Formats: sequence, structure tokens, C-alpha cells
Amino acid sequence: MARYTGPVCRLCRREGVKLYLKGERCYSDKCAIDRRTYPPGQHGQRRIKLTEYGMQLREKQKARRSYGVLEGQFRNYFKKADRQSGVTGENLLKLLERRLDNVVYRLGFADSRAQARQLVLHNHFTLNGNKANIASMQVKVGDVIKLKDKSKKSPIINQLVENLGQKTPPVWLELDTNNLSGKVVKLPNRDEIDLPIQEQLIIELYSR
Ligand code: SF4
Repeated sequence: MARYTGPVCRLCRREGVKLYLKGERCYSDKCAIDRRTYPPGQHGQRRIKLTEYGMQLREKQKARRSYGVLEGQFRNYFKKADRQSGVTGENLLKLLERRLDNVVYRLGFADSRAQARQLVLHNHFTLNGNKANIASMQVKVGDVIKLKDKSKKSPIINQLVENLGQKTPPVWLELDTNNLSGKVVKLPNRDEIDLPIQEQLIIELYSR
């Protein structure tokens, strides 16, 4: 399963916003975007006026990088969103938001989506009591995501569990700290997805 393995702070600096890809470090004074506010690379400090295409591209990259999906996967999400009824841009973000790794992150079981993805891939969760080790699985209303009992033995997971509940999950998810589980109580609305993304620009990019 392919994923980006390069330096991630560089991605935030490229997009000019915090994408919160590194967990706790993103909230500390070590955050690279706070220390170097210009884009990475030799010409990063030059002033560049973005074209219309450039703005659309940056918006797409911002969304894609936030959720940690590759270009091909992202395009497939767009195609799926386009086939659904309703506003394509909103459908796109809702599909991304319903990924299992994102749900694990939103519930607070992981500090970042990358960590959530790894926990899912390493088979630490069940979905409705069944094996769930595919990060891109789409959750639906009523689904229950639960940390496996044997996974609590891991020191890293133990640490994450201790911090569980510190982050408030979005209203479409319900966290049960006693059972170390979460439930999808409804599907997310656009205003419940707290990402600074102008999805309309992404749709314009793919409609070229
Ligand atoms: Fe982005 Fe986090 Fe790195 Fe800051 S620390 S630049 S928010 S990944």
C-alpha cells in the first residue's frame, strides 16, 4: 500500500498552513511552519503570484496531503463524489472524512492521521467486531470502531489510551472511553469538517 514517506513538515510549508501531520510536535514551538514561514526549496523565499491553476492545484494538494492519500486514490475519490447526488466538493470531503484511519484519528486514538493509519494497518482495531486493517475502509452510520483488548498491552497504545478523551471528537462520532470504542452516529456535514479547504477549487481543477 503506497504512501508518501518524505519529510512532512515540508508539505505544510509548501501549502502555507498547518496540516497537523506530526501529532504533538504540531502544537509545540518546534513546528517548522512557525519557524520558517516561507515555502521550502531554493526559491522558497521569492514572492510568487499564483495563477488560477496554481491556486486550484494548491487546494487539491492541501486536501490530499491532509488525509495522506496519493494522487490516484484522490482522483478516484473525486470520481466517486462526482457520481453521487449533491455538491461534488462536499461529497469529496465527506468521503475522505469517512475513511477508517481518519475516524480513528478524529476519535482521538492517534495523534495524527499517519499514526492512525499505522494503527489500523497493524490490526489494532475492529469494525463491528470484525477485522479492520484497511485504512481506506468507509465507515457508515451505526458502525462501531473498537480497540482490540490485546492491543492495550503495547506501551505506545497505552500512552495513547491515557490521553483519550482530551480531544473532543466531532459531533458525528461518539467516543466511549470505558469501552475504548467509538460509534458513527451520523454522517458528517461539511460544516462539521474543520479543514480550511475550498473544495470548489479542487472541483474546478478536475473539471479542466
Ligand atoms: Fe506541519 Fe506539524 Fe510539521 Fe508544523 S510540526 S509543519 S503542523 S507537520
